[in-house]
Amino acid sequence: MLIDPFQRQVNYLRVSVTDRCDFRCVYCMSEHMSFLPKKELLSLEELDRLCSTFVALGVRKLRISGGEPLVRRGIMTLIHRLGRHLETGALDELTLTTNASQLEKYAAELIKCGVRRINVSLDSLDAKKFLAITRWGKFDRVMAGIEAARAEGLRIKINTVALKGVNDDEIENIVRWCGEKDMDLTFIETMPMGEIDGDRSDQYLPLSQVRTQLEKIWTLEESDHVSGGPARYVNVRETGQRVGFITPLSHNFCESCNRVRLTCTGTLYMCLGQDDAADLRAPLRASEDDKGIIAAIREAITRKPKGHDFAIDRLHPAPAVARHMSVTGG
Ligand code: SAM
Ligand code: SF4
Repeated sequence: MLIDPFQRQVNYLRVSVTDRCDFRCVYCMSEHMSFLPKKELLSLEELDRLCSTFVALGVRKLRISGGEPLVRRGIMTLIHRLGRHLETGALDELTLTTNASQLEKYAAELIKCGVRRINVSLDSLDAKKFLAITRWGKFDRVMAGIEAARAEGLRIKINTVALKGVNDDEIENIVRWCGEKDMDLTFIETMPMGEIDGDRSDQYLPLSQVRTQLEKIWTLEESDHVSGGPARYVNVRETGQRVGFITPLSHNFCESCNRVRLTCTGTLYMCLGQDDAADLRAPLRASEDDKGIIAAIREAITRKPKGHDFAIDRLHPAPAVARHMSVTGG
């Protein structure tokens, strides 16, 4: 088992399998992003070996993310191989976070790999606004991807980043739409990670305001549902729907953090909002024996910090960390 200095058990690994993406969401990236040279990427076999070592050390939940994970060539080979840990019972859940652009193509195969639930990021139901947010996204393909996943029986949770003056007028509509389609929904506050073209303080919308907006229409009841992630949930009494809130800025959730994050180059970040990291690529490549990797992981966990120091306001114009969310996979 991996236990950090604050007695938190680390049993959840998120893996960014590529920092590249076919979208350029305004809060996530600048339009002209520089990505890692492809030669620096770990191979799919190497990613499998690192993930499997984490599973051997007690990780029970694995989330594949990115960048856009489904644009990495051969990605289904990795997901398929990782599925073996579900069959042995070593892993409780194998899941992914995706923008759904490639989901129509891969939904059936994901089910075959043992994936049962996925997170889909969607910030607007208005095709024009969707294009403005994602810059390059194709709304119809995303909708087709979502429908294909539903038809295959994949359970979907929609993640919506709340953006001031952009989608705050759609909050109610998104809740209703998710309810009609029987999809869970979580709102997220924008986080100060990596340079973008605009100013994040223009985008930041505290979720307390989203909640207040919803409370004008519905009765929200606190829920004790836990998903293994950082969201806090409410039930909408009138519709029976569950809505989550991820509030890294307005209400820090670090005390119950059970996660670490691996990049596609084999760097392990012990906190989304701190720079300290451990290199797992060197021990991975140094030997075919996993002992070096295990020692490096155990050492890294002793350095897991208490939490992040995110802030978005005029006093903090710079990102809290230089890397973008796409490097560590959200
Ligand atoms: N491309 C995939 C997607 O969008 O679902 C997976 C990677 S994306 C980095 C993972 C999640 O991070 C998405 O839900 C996205 O909305 C969110 N995200 C990206 N940058 C963010 C930021 N600066 N603050 C808050 N959430 C962010
Ligand atoms: Fe790509 Fe996801 Fe970032 Fe949007 S949020 S640019 S889809 S990685």
